[in-house]
Amino acid sequence: MTYTIEKVTTLIGARRFGEHVARIGFILADSRSLCFPEETLFFALRSERNDGHHYIPELYRRGVRNFVVTEVPFNRETDYPDANFLKVVDTLEALQRLAERHRDEFNIPIVGITGSNGKTMVKEWLNQLLSDDLFVTRSPRSYNSQIGVPLSVWLLNEHTQVGVFEAGISQVGEMAALHDIIQPTIAVLTNLGDAHQENFSSKEAKCKEKLKLFRDAKVVVYNGDDELVGRCVSELKDLKGERLFWSVADKRAPFFVKAIEKKAQTTEVTYIYKGEEHRYSLPFIDEASVNNSFACAIVALTLGIGANKLGERMRQLEPIAMRLEVKQGRHGCTLINDSYNSDINSLDIALDFMNRRPDHQGRRHTLVLSDIYQSGMTTHELYEEVGRLCRQRGVEKFIGIGEELKKHAASIKLSEEYFFDNVDELIGSDVFKQLHDEVILIKGARRFGFDRLTELLVRKVHETTLEVNLNAVVKNLNRYRSFMKPETKLVCMIKADAYGAGSVEIAKTLQDHRVDYLAVAVADEGVTLRKNGITSSIMIMNPEMTAFKTMFDYDLEPEVYSFRLLDALVKAAEKEGITGFPVHIKLDTGMHRLGFDPQKDMDELIKRLKRQTAVIPRSVFSHFVGSDSDDFDDFSARQYELFRLGADRLQAVFDHKILFHMDNSAGIEHFPDRQMDMCRLGLGLYGINPRTNETLDNVSTLKTTILQLRKVPAGDSVGYSRKTILERDSMIAAIPIGYADGLDRHLSNRRGYCLVNGQKADYVGNICMDVAMIDVTGIDCKEGDSVEIFGDRLPVTVLSDIIGTIPYEVLTGVSNRVKRVYFQD
Ligand SMILES: *Cc1c(COP(=O)(O)O)cnc(C)c1O
Repeated sequence: MTYTIEKVTTLIGARRFGEHVARIGFILADSRSLCFPEETLFFALRSERNDGHHYIPELYRRGVRNFVVTEVPFNRETDYPDANFLKVVDTLEALQRLAERHRDEFNIPIVGITGSNGKTMVKEWLNQLLSDDLFVTRSPRSYNSQIGVPLSVWLLNEHTQVGVFEAGISQVGEMAALHDIIQPTIAVLTNLGDAHQENFSSKEAKCKEKLKLFRDAKVVVYNGDDELVGRCVSELKDLKGERLFWSVADKRAPFFVKAIEKKAQTTEVTYIYKGEEHRYSLPFIDEASVNNSFACAIVALTLGIGANKLGERMRQLEPIAMRLEVKQGRHGCTLINDSYNSDINSLDIALDFMNRRPDHQGRRHTLVLSDIYQSGMTTHELYEEVGRLCRQRGVEKFIGIGEELKKHAASIKLSEEYFFDNVDELIGSDVFKQLHDEVILIKGARRFGFDRLTELLVRKVHETTLEVNLNAVVKNLNRYRSFMKPETKLVCMIKADAYGAGSVEIAKTLQDHRVDYLAVAVADEGVTLRKNGITSSIMIMNPEMTAFKTMFDYDLEPEVYSFRLLDALVKAAEKEGITGFPVHIKLDTGMHRLGFDPQKDMDELIKRLKRQTAVIPRSVFSHFVGSDSDDFDDFSARQYELFRLGADRLQAVFDHKILFHMDNSAGIEHFPDRQMDMCRLGLGLYGINPRTNETLDNVSTLKTTILQLRKVPAGDSVGYSRKTILERDSMIAAIPIGYADGLDRHLSNRRGYCLVNGQKADYVGNICMDVAMIDVTGIDCKEGDSVEIFGDRLPVTVLSDIIGTIPYEVLTGVSNRVKRVYFQD
């Protein structure tokens, strides 16, 4: 579905400059995701830190001709002769308005889903339940924000028979806009949790905000057993829709859940809907899945899926893997595994993700794709579109799996392409054996058995992995940015291998989010980043005297903390004929670790800096000793004063601006008025608030699996030196993680615990080098089950408290042999 530029101009009430003839098929809010320039309309959005207007020249060069702006470039006629500029007062509002008008074109059921958790699960399950009968258009991944919702709704097209969209809010006033864009005919509130509570005066206020989605809907769906929700719904003034709530307690509920019976792998649900009793079997047993299934059932029944069909499809529901995984593969490959449902929108997003991760080795981009099941479009249209996407998104090698793809091979049109009937055929082929030094995106419907393919391609290492959630890194980044003035620059500390999370992938994510500086400890860490395509400015906190040449070669800017270091650096730079190499001057204001004395050393420092031109101070900084505790506020104030004294003197003798910085994570939050020009974010980025020890968005989860289970009678001991004597007959599990992996031995003998299927299991006996034993008596588990050492459900601070240290030490202690796996929603 496309719109003429004239139509768009009218729909968003813009003033048009330029006469270029154009039809708009794609809208773009992030310049990095450009795919089809000719048909794209770019919205130059402004946020606190960024301004889409800056990207207009680049996008124009890449072929974009249509822009929605608040300011028309002054050089429009000379520099953009054949472009259209649509001038509006607010570009975000214009984007939302366009989506709203687009939505108006459709007289079909639209499901809007809100709630604190489970939105994506309900949306994806509805898609699974409905898509055999209806062409469903839904939000890609979790595009549920003020920008994500309009982009999702824009995907509605002439084939769509039902739309399913998520609406996520984090503060008062956001739902009204989302409601108007989605205009749901069926509105769902999954549940009401405590997320984002800080932005609301009360839980009731948050509930009421979410319920704004219910306005004008024909059907509203919610949990009738949640008293607060029930009350808020009944107080809604303009609610006209039928209230189809579920309840396990209230027999008169429209959807009465009469019985929930948990089996080993499934849950049997008996319900009474509109007077009739039915059952379904759900292939999940966790609480959240069961609750979410009620909302799904009600919506599906409302949309005319009969109870029998519903039962059949419920049984086949698949887990929602919402994350892209980046894994190290064999033979120099990197694997991007996207087990997310295969449809054209998620393919596009995955390809975009692949393109945006820099790859210095310039490896080939390969796509392994299965047949796509998506009703509505003809298969010809569908695979033509797939081919077009592949060519636009830089896929160089295409491997198609499935009969449909084979039939439509001619649509792909890449120079290197292979087709197989099934995964086995691929695995047995030379094409498979010859995969090497490639970035491989694996994207396939589950029924094709792609998990076996990934398993064969992944480099086999230890079964213990550290899972790193890249979305959480971004959320934490934004949290700290929200405490900072928009113009304040940011250094992200990725020393110690990004606090254990792995510096390369973290750096890629941070670079993608336009962080000003990355800081590592030693030169080699910087080189690794450069070799992996990181082009951001990099600071070296502990520069070695032997590595100056490396720093010059790779543009790594050293910290300078002593005269000896300064002189050696200057000498080395002069030898190379280098001038104006940026350095960062460290002042010691109280830590008494490294740095120049801001009172005694300044004269000499200035003298030495001034008599040479090889290096030039880019910034001057110091480090708080105790910004994490109010007890040291006086001391911190003195540190700050001392710093200003030294830094101001340095600035006074140079014409160029020298950046001042002092705040670390705790400081950013606690001393916002000491931000100066730049802040240095460390621990907070990795999900721990250093002031409260609370978890922010958790980034790293250390996981392992149960190797072996055995019954051990009471009175027996476990492990070396008989340190734990069992007091009861016990079930003991061995797990492949030991102190050599970074599991601290002080956790031994029931001092610490891990989680097995969500339940606490004590460490028993002394933790060994490569293996530990845990007590799983009474816990439902089997060999191969996953064990969480710390992470999403067991905060790392619990461990650091038990062993009497700080979370930094536990995080950075996870050894190199533990494989890092990266996720992104
Ligand atoms: C590690 C480090 C930081 C970051 O500290 P956090 O407490 O992790 O935020 C900031 N500045 C310097 C000099 C550091 O070494």
